[in-house]
Amino acid sequence: MEEKNRTSELELTFECPKCGGTGVFEHLTNYTNIFVYEDGEIAFGDTEWWESDTAEYSCNECFWTIVDEEDCIIRDEAALIRWLRKEPKTLVPTPSETNGCCDDEERESPDGALDLEPGELRFVCPKCNGNQLDAVNFTATRVFAFDDGSVVYGKVYGGEYEHYRCHACRWKVEDEEHGCFDEPEILVSWLQANCDQSE
Ligand SMILES: [Zn+2]
Ligand SMILES: [Zn+2]
Repeated sequence: MEEKNRTSELELTFECPKCGGTGVFEHLTNYTNIFVYEDGEIAFGDTEWWESDTAEYSCNECFWTIVDEEDCIIRDEAALIRWLRKEPKTLVPTPSETNGCCDDEERESPDGALDLEPGELRFVCPKCNGNQLDAVNFTATRVFAFDDGSVVYGKVYGGEYEHYRCHACRWKVEDEEHGCFDEPEILVSWLQANCDQSE
């Protein structure tokens, strides 16, 4: 696969704080609610959502999501360019900067106990106690950002990366051993080890 080199003096450099990677991906996300069973079966719900208007940017090597100094996910080109220029976040956010920042989007999280089917494993989000799991697919596109504020998009990588997350707060399911993972067997053992399965 061909990788573009730095295209001009104007191009803003990226250095991933986690792995030193130098490429930026823009992710567009779609996700489906899932139900996981002890035998490793995963049932997909009928709902699929696209987040076409809420991009995330990440390292193209380790998929570290670019966040600003307040841990808000960077979701638009202007914020990305400012971050790459190492400019501090403005003190008074503009409406577009507030939009989508720090998961201000309200999502429904069911209260109380869920009705589980036989063999179905319970998910309890360690961050928000949410009970709905999503399977996430990404479309990743290489991003080249320039000091004049322009952004050029490169090759698109389709749906190559998948993980599971809490529907309510978007916490990515991960563990020490695997980081984020997409294997149903690992998800089953993660749920059994981390979520109370007793009635
Ligand atoms: Zn990285
Ligand atoms: Zn959560």
